Amino acid sequence: MLRARIRLHSFLPHSRANGPGVRAVVWVQGCSLGCPGCFNPETHDVFGGEDVVVDELVDRIVGLSDTIEGVTVTGGEPLEQRWAVQGILVGIRERTGLSSIVMSGFTWTEIRRLPDAASLLEPIDVLIAGRFQTAGRIAIGMRGSANKTIHLLSDRYTYDDLASVVTSEIVLDVDGRITATGIDPVRLLAD
Ligand code: SF4
Repeated sequence: MLRARIRLHSFLPHSRANGPGVRAVVWVQGCSLGCPGCFNPETHDVFGGEDVVVDELVDRIVGLSDTIEGVTVTGGEPLEQRWAVQGILVGIRERTGLSSIVMSGFTWTEIRRLPDAASLLEPIDVLIAGRFQTAGRIAIGMRGSANKTIHLLSDRYTYDDLASVVTSEIVLDVDGRITATGIDPVRLLAD
């Protein structure tokens, strides 16, 4: 039987800078939107990252559910692999009470025009939408630039909850890997 797969850039099991509370973060690999000044150009190549079975990623997140409040899916562009992203979010919702945030470069209008918009949005608590625009950079409240729009699709979170999310963090894992993340990440020097 064929199993749904996703092209994954990276995964962080515990983050405090990608949404309210402690959250797992899924960075999807691949983005064709080409925003000038993008902070994550290494996520653009659709052949980069690694190929992951959706069910195995869901199992991994479910296994963290006692230690996290939710999952944030970002990228790269999550909606360029939206069937896989939807599979992840539905799988998590069926098995846990975790919340879900999706950060997309597509605008709200573009997303609403997708033929599967209703089912895509159904398992999402918060959607942050719109291209990153360097000229409008704000890097607060989970928005990289002022044009980005926030859509509270359930009553799980408020605008104040999002505004209180820290903008930057550095995570050191047990293998010594350092990850700098958040809407205003620290730039680490290359090796
Ligand atoms: S949508 Fe996101 S990942 Fe894609 S180019 Fe724009 S800022 Fe970069």
